[in-house]
Amino acid sequence: MPRGIPLVLSAPSGAGKSTLVRALRSRLPGLEFSVSHTTRRPRAGEVDGVDYHFVALQVFEKMIGQRAFAEWAEVHGNLYGTSLEALETRLERGADVLLDIDVQGALQLAEGVAGAVLVFVLPPSWDELRRRLVMRGLDPADVIERRLANARGELGQALRYHYLVVNDRVERAADELCRIVEAERCRAGRRRDLVEALLREESRATPGAEDTL
Ligand code: 5GP
Repeated sequence: MPRGIPLVLSAPSGAGKSTLVRALRSRLPGLEFSVSHTTRRPRAGEVDGVDYHFVALQVFEKMIGQRAFAEWAEVHGNLYGTSLEALETRLERGADVLLDIDVQGALQLAEGVAGAVLVFVLPPSWDELRRRLVMRGLDPADVIERRLANARGELGQALRYHYLVVNDRVERAADELCRIVEAERCRAGRRRDLVEALLREESRATPGAEDTL
């Protein structure tokens, strides 16, 4: 069983990543979602263990001390991290894992976790990003300006990712993400077992070939 793919998705807030994540998960039901730990309070409707593992700051800090995170970062004043053990267990059993994490975490993961595939979701334009932040009506003007300033910084890291996907239309962007996953599954390094099986078969079918292997 080849090791699964850690598929990392990052985006500036307002780029529509959550909708895209939902669309991708419904298209690729085999893709397992990495449930992060966070110190932020649950929002209405969020379920502990499903959306996040909601933990106290002391618990999170203890986990940092135990090197329990594959990556962790402070995002908008709260701590977020990916459990190394949970991630590795899934990858080892061959599951592809989707991680919705910020830029700092994605770059840490690229260093520490073998085979991480990094996808950055871009808004179609700067105007559209601003429009989406205003339209969702969640934030006052100063918070929107802060989010846009953060977005500028995050965009500065986008070229360190492996793939850039423009979220102009969710269905189109989700199609593109599916094709990225398909292509990554075909990488030679992940299909070593196929070549080995063929060579074993060939050596059984060809008398005397065992001697040359
Ligand atoms: P929210 O609190 O709105 O769910 O998420 C805020 C930000 O934290 C999002 O950009 C999300 O991608 C990021 N995030 C969620 N989980 C993790 C994690 O485990 N590690 C890092 N580095 N960022 C995360």
